[in-house]
Amino acid sequence: MKIEVHYNHFDPEAPDDEWIPKCVANGWVILTGDKAIETDPINAKAVEESAAKVFITADTNSKAEEWAAAIIVGRRKLARVVEYNNGAFCVDVDKHATNHVSPERYKGGGGPKPKEESPIPQPPEEISSAAIAEPESPPDPQQVIQFPKDQPSIEPDDDDIVSDIEACVEREGRMNKTTTAEFDGIPFRVRFEAERQVACDPICPNCGYDLEQSAIAGQDAMLLCPSNNKGCTIPVKSFRTAEEMGQFLTRASEEIEKHSQ
Ligand SMILES: [Zn+2]
Repeated sequence: MKIEVHYNHFDPEAPDDEWIPKCVANGWVILTGDKAIETDPINAKAVEESAAKVFITADTNSKAEEWAAAIIVGRRKLARVVEYNNGAFCVDVDKHATNHVSPERYKGGGGPKPKEESPIPQPPEEISSAAIAEPESPPDPQQVIQFPKDQPSIEPDDDDIVSDIEACVEREGRMNKTTTAEFDGIPFRVRFEAERQVACDPICPNCGYDLEQSAIAGQDAMLLCPSNNKGCTIPVKSFRTAEEMGQFLTRASEEIEKHSQ
């Protein structure tokens, strides 16, 4: 089992009906926390038409590590579901040991693969429809798990999966994070997405609040702490002009980005 992370292949803002068929074309199954993949009519159509195999995690509030553990525990069942069924289908993955992986909800031409030796029973209609009645959750960044088609064994190597998932969790932490850095005596809150610095905002050295920029054309400019906390310097930093303040913030962002690489 090999894991491909959504944002390594697609823009985070890519419409669902654009990346879903591309996953299928790559031979990947989809693991997502976004229930809209099944409930949104446009996404549902993309799933059905591309014959996608979709696993949906039961909630999006848990840590990535918890879901990684659930996937590790359920991997053989997942691999069997992929092996024995044609897409399109959606399957719920739960964290609890009982009823860990739900029955398949087949879409369009989806269904069990015809196999003489070991026929897979169809889920009763009432179970598949009952399993659809899930509460809506906020969307979550999608991840894609790949089961290579040419792999004859459906019993994947434990060590490979564990190290794959560990690498995934570690890479996620490295790629998206918030840290603080200092420039010219002022601390900045720095945010990285996909290892790119996307924000670098000055914060109060005393209380950590985001500083406000105060500037009037032709007059002094300053960085002010809005917290009214006792002991915060007023202003935290002042400049002769708004332009000078702008240059300071740009230089701070550039220097911090340079040193974070
Ligand atoms: Zn403050």
